[in-house]
Amino acid sequence: MKAQVARIRRYGHGCLRRKARPVDPADPKTRVLLDTLWSTLDSDGGVGLAAPQIGCLSRVVIVVDPERPRGRRKLELVNPVITKTFGPRVPFEEGCLSFPGLYTMVWRNQGAVVTYDGPKGKCTLREEGLAGRIIQHEVDHLDGVLFVDHLSGWKKFFLLPRLISYVMFEFWRKVRGKERGG
Ligand SMILES: [Zn+2]
Repeated sequence: MKAQVARIRRYGHGCLRRKARPVDPADPKTRVLLDTLWSTLDSDGGVGLAAPQIGCLSRVVIVVDPERPRGRRKLELVNPVITKTFGPRVPFEEGCLSFPGLYTMVWRNQGAVVTYDGPKGKCTLREEGLAGRIIQHEVDHLDGVLFVDHLSGWKKFFLLPRLISYVMFEFWRKVRGKERGG
C-alpha cells in the first residue's frame, strides 16, 4: 500500500506551536506515520520534516542527509533528544516547508549530538554540517519552536508581510471548514 501524502501546515496553524508527545517506536502506527512523512517530503522535495508539520503531535522527524552515500541518506528519528550542541555558531540560509518560499539566515551551532529510538533500541548520532543543522531545525518543531524564532526582532519585522500571508492562508482554510481541529 502506498503511503498517503499529507498536507503541510503553514505558519499560523495551531499544531506548529504545540509540544509533541513521545511515541512507541514499536507501534505500527509509528511506521505508518514515518511512511506518510516520507511520501509527503518526497512530493515536496525538502530535506526534513517533523510530524507536527502534518498536524500530528508525535515526536517523530525525518531528515535527508545529502552528504552521506546514496542509500544511507534517510534518517528516521523517533523521540529524538538533542543531548549536546557543539562547535561555533554559524550562519546558514534556512527554509521550512511550513513557510513556502521563505529563506533566511539563521545562526546555529555547527553540530549536534542526538539520541533517538531506533528499530533495535537507543541510538546516538553526532552530526555536523548540513545534517547537524537540519536535525536542530526539525527537533525544534517538536517543541513548537520555529526557525523564525531564532531571528532578531528587526529581521522578523521585515518578514512580517510574508508571515501574515501564511497566517491568512491557514485562517481562510479554517473558516471555509476544509479541515477539522487545531
Ligand atoms: Zn521546518
